[in-house]
Amino acid sequence: MSQFATQLPPKEFLWDVFQKVDKDHSGFISANELQLALSNGTWAPFNAETVRLMIEMFDKQNRGEISFDDFGALWKYITDWQACFRSFDRDNSGNINKEEFQNALNTFGYRLSDPTIEVIVKKFDRLGKNVILFDDFIQACILLHKLTDAFRQHDQDQDGIITIQYEQFVGMVFSMKI
Ligand code: MG
Ligand code: MG
Ligand code: MG
Repeated sequence: MSQFATQLPPKEFLWDVFQKVDKDHSGFISANELQLALSNGTWAPFNAETVRLMIEMFDKQNRGEISFDDFGALWKYITDWQACFRSFDRDNSGNINKEEFQNALNTFGYRLSDPTIEVIVKKFDRLGKNVILFDDFIQACILLHKLTDAFRQHDQDQDGIITIQYEQFVGMVFSMKI
């Protein structure tokens, strides 16, 4: 995703956005407030799981909320994802179809076959149209990244094959923050 890196805007701009998102003026952005501020291009609410993942990633004080200090990094993360999503949405449909998703994953360095891509698209296809919306695209990419990381830890020789015992497998899945 690094090729989509945007510059951080001035503090005044960020403060302005922060105050608009912090609806209850608590000085922190809650999951609820962040969810309300984000759009996936439809009237459906922004994926709550994606919101949770993002708060967990940037909440440096471990409060379950975002302070202004953490907000710049979060703002940049979301803006980078928007640029990334737009660049892979070749047909400007506002969503990512199977071919666009495959192209994105190839660019990120994943080599997955058609049937596997179809399984992922199916899981995140909220509209029943074989496409992925912005918020679900982020969740799908984070999940794939975490799964790949967990797998690689067992794949010492990096050949894409692991031998794993039942208990190791259960432990691996349950220790993943997904
Ligand atoms: Mg608040
Ligand atoms: Mg599209
Ligand atoms: Mg191996």
